Order: sequence, then structure tokens, then C-alpha cells
Amino acid sequence: MTVILGIETSCDETSIALVKDGREVLSNIVRTQHIHGKFGGVVPDISSREHAEFIDTVYYEAIDKSGIDINKIDAISVVNGPGLIGSLMTGLMFAKGLSLHYNKPFIPVNHVDAHIYANVLTHGNLNFPLLSLVASGGHTSLFIVNKEFKTELIGKTIDDAAGEAFDKCAKMLKLGYPGGPSIEKHSINGNTNFHRFPRAKIKNFDFSFSGLKTSVLYYLNDKDNDFINENLSHITASLQEAIVDQLIHKVISASEEFNINILSLAGGVSANIRLRDKLKEYSIKTGKTLYVPKLCYCTDNAANVAGIGFMLYQKKGFGNMKTNVYSRK
Ligand code: AMP
Ligand code: MG
Repeated sequence: MTVILGIETSCDETSIALVKDGREVLSNIVRTQHIHGKFGGVVPDISSREHAEFIDTVYYEAIDKSGIDINKIDAISVVNGPGLIGSLMTGLMFAKGLSLHYNKPFIPVNHVDAHIYANVLTHGNLNFPLLSLVASGGHTSLFIVNKEFKTELIGKTIDDAAGEAFDKCAKMLKLGYPGGPSIEKHSINGNTNFHRFPRAKIKNFDFSFSGLKTSVLYYLNDKDNDFINENLSHITASLQEAIVDQLIHKVISASEEFNINILSLAGGVSANIRLRDKLKEYSIKTGKTLYVPKLCYCTDNAANVAGIGFMLYQKKGFGNMKTNVYSRK
């Protein structure tokens, strides 16, 4: 039995998990920093301070809930990038402290790879090669993943991430932060064809959402509050459709171009039901396999980190005291 303690502090979740053999989640404590709601987006300095203030509470809760003696764990895995630099630093220093104190190796983990691993926690053994869309608050990337879990980036956003587009549009509609879940909730009975927001037309597999954001801004500029309130479900359904359409279009065209019939979603935006349903419809129609993570593993959490940490543990992918953080992939 191998138990890995995972640590995630790359953005606005302080999370610590204990996972057995890369599959069995013994505990996964996630503390989301709701304080950013006041500002309509994550404030990096506040994020670092909140991680520093709460990481030990989250740690003790994760240990208690797992029922595992900390001396019995095999290694500590920690996200060291990409993410907010001060936030990452808090998690990395905490991991180094545990590593020195308990004489356990620590394993630096890529945040985006950890998101993809959510599908292993959900489905067990996956088939490869996999075409994986990672859409979150900070990333929108398309990868080909091989059976060693090596990722090849084939497309990425050239401006905003999909989650960021949800968050910024929600801010314009005064729907609070994070925007994805509230846009989804309001869109439920809305007409997706009420207004056609633009879908960026980029020839390769890259994404762009800043044009959509501007178009929502212009659209709302000459509308009064009564109109917006009366049509909120239609407006949110229409803009959600524009984001989802672009994501789906790229997954489908990459799947066809590279002839990959195993698809997967990951990251916070993969919790979106419209996105899941539309891709599921496509996969059923074409006979392709689709993996979607359990909702609890979509947004940032440390079970994903401990899971991929187990994989790296077997390859002895250990860090050392010189291991640092990096903010971009
Ligand atoms: P992450 O960066 O992986 O923690 O995910 C957070 C991002 O996912 C934020 O930008 C959220 O707005 C977005 N998000 C979370 N749930 C949903 C949802 N149901 N639909 C769309 N976006 C979502
Ligand atoms: Mg987050």
C-alpha cells in the first residue's frame, strides 16, 4: 500500500488529500477562498495570505479524516506550477517542511496534469491515447496524452481561459464569483438562440474568448436592468452556448484531425452540464469514448495531485530543496 499526501494551493483553493495507491481517496479537504467574490475575481495577494492562514487547519483535517498516521505516508506531492506565484510558494514550502520533518520524499506536480488525472480517480484505468480538454479558471488547453501520461499540447487559449470568460461575463451581469456555476444555474430554462454571441474562428486548435467578452459588454451596454432581468435565462443560455460551442468544436476537429477516438474533459469548466451533454451526444453518435470526471474532482483539489503524485512516485520523480515554483507552463 502506498499513501501519498497531496497539496494544492495554485489559486483559490487550499486543499490537502490523502490517496491510497493512486485510486482510493481517503480524504480530500478543499477550502475555497470565497473572499474573492467581493472583487469579482481572484486577487493574488489575498490568495497567498489565505493559503498561509488556513493551510495547517486544512492539513490537520485531512490527516484526521483519513485515519492515517502521518508517519505512515510514503510521500508528499505538491503543485509547483502553473499558478499564482505566492500561492504556489505557500504549498511548496509547506511540503518541503513536512518532507524534512518526517523524512519523506516530496514530488512536484504540474497543476494541469493533475486536472487530467481526475479521470483516473473517476474511471480507473483509462484507454490511450487520449484527447484531453482542460478548461478551468486559468487554462483552456487541448492535449494528446499517451499511456505514460505524457502530454503534448496541441492548442491553448490565446487570451482568456474559458472559466475566466464565464467569470467575466457573470461579473458584467452582476451574478457573483465564480461565474460558471451561476451562469449555468440561470441558463437552465433559457433559449440558447436568443442572441448569437460570436464564436472565435481560429484555424488551428487554439481558443479565444476575449471577443466574446467584449461582445457581451457591448450587448449589455444599451439594455436596461428590466430587460436584463426579464431575459437573464436567455442571455446566460446564449453566452454559455457560445463558450461551449467553441470548446466542443475544437475537441471534435482535433479528434478528427488526429484520429483519436478517446476524449476527456477536465478542469472547473468540465462541471458544466451543457458542455458534458453536448460532448456526450457527439461521443454516442460517433461511437467514441468520453471520460468526464466526477464533479468533486473538476475544480482544483488535492486528490488529483496525490493521484498523479502516486504515478510519479513509482518513477521516482522526486523534488529536492532547490525545487522552485513556476507560474506559467
Ligand atoms: P478551477 O480553476 O479548475 O478551480 O475551476 C474554476 C473555474 O471553473 C471558474 O472559472 C469557474 O467559473 C468555472 N466553473 C466551475 N463550475 C462551472 C460550471 N458548472 N460551468 C462553467 N464553469 C464552471
Ligand atoms: Mg480554483
